[in-house]
Amino acid sequence: MIESLTIGPDKTGRVVAITGGRIVAEPLAGAEMLACPDGVIETGAVCAHTHLYSALSPYGMPAPQPEPLNFLQILERTWWRLDRAIDAETLSAAARLYVAEALISGTTALVDHHESPTFIEGSLGVLAEACEAFGIRALLCYGATERNFGAAEAKRGLAESARITSGPRIRSLIGLHAGFTVSDDTIKAAADLAQRRGTAIHIHVAEDIEDVEDARRRGYAGPIERMESLGALVPGSVLAHGVHLSAEEVALAAKHKCWLVQNPRSNLRNRVGYPYELWASPRVALGTDGWPANMTDEQRALLQLAAMHSDDGAEKRLPAGNQLIAEHFGAATAGLERGGLGDLVIRVDGAVRHVVVDGRVVVRDGALAGHDIEAIRAEAKAVSSRLWDRMARVA
Ligand SMILES: [Zn+2]
Repeated sequence: MIESLTIGPDKTGRVVAITGGRIVAEPLAGAEMLACPDGVIETGAVCAHTHLYSALSPYGMPAPQPEPLNFLQILERTWWRLDRAIDAETLSAAARLYVAEALISGTTALVDHHESPTFIEGSLGVLAEACEAFGIRALLCYGATERNFGAAEAKRGLAESARITSGPRIRSLIGLHAGFTVSDDTIKAAADLAQRRGTAIHIHVAEDIEDVEDARRRGYAGPIERMESLGALVPGSVLAHGVHLSAEEVALAAKHKCWLVQNPRSNLRNRVGYPYELWASPRVALGTDGWPANMTDEQRALLQLAAMHSDDGAEKRLPAGNQLIAEHFGAATAGLERGGLGDLVIRVDGAVRHVVVDGRVVVRDGALAGHDIEAIRAEAKAVSSRLWDRMARVA
């Protein structure tokens, strides 16, 4: 049976009908009704780059020792230790927590970039299961890399991205960690795989100056030119960060219909700089890079930083994420018009009241449908101490 839902009218008089997951002109007879006379219907927020596996980190992750002095040391002493400690149980708890918190904050779609080098095969299945359990929309990938176990590790990473089967709310991208941890052959293999599967690539680009210098040492003008010459600027690809790109490189990514994603809180904490040249592309979305996917918080941080850096293009980045998701899920529009995805949020005085994804109510009256957020937080807390023990034993 095709599901049909009618929402509204809201306090502006707007009514949205969704059938089969898409916004339609008229609901089917007998459609479920969701009233919201005191609320406002808005498109759901999109987090265009994140890492579900890091969701347990606020639950007592030990501080790195000694304190990192640069970006590479932050990766080596924190995130590359955490990802090697992840197993199926801790990944599941992290993903469930992340997805649940994202939905109750009004985020309806996530673009995840996953790595767990000692648990590669099956890891995306764990993420897909968590997304399905709560009903969020997601683009998943495994960030293939050679940094732990060489070329064989990269092959296994690419195969894991290809293992995801598409569903109404799940699609796969082909992931690469970052240019500086993969060879040209791996980049080419990722591009071929993305083309063959009719999808695109998800990679960190120029987050730190080291990624740019690495591309130059390999004989390229920079990471974007390297990807272009290897055929890896596949249309629809998600290039996270772009902090150290020139305006010409940003424009080149846009010419290939690639997306860039700004992650303001992460960039600030990692002290990698502000992505000044992102103005040169209209295809720039907003991500959290592992911070909770509360896009109201991320947007606030973005606007503050943008004002400090005289960046007047920042307002467009959060809604641009809806366009990214619409393209990957084949929707005719990114808005609340006919043909759009049935992903929306009803807010009352700014607070999230109901959340609908793919025409299904996943948050009702501020609470997850069919799940208890306190139980999920308790589960996360219980599992996290085991994760910190495992992390302490990572060589
Ligand atoms: Zn990232």
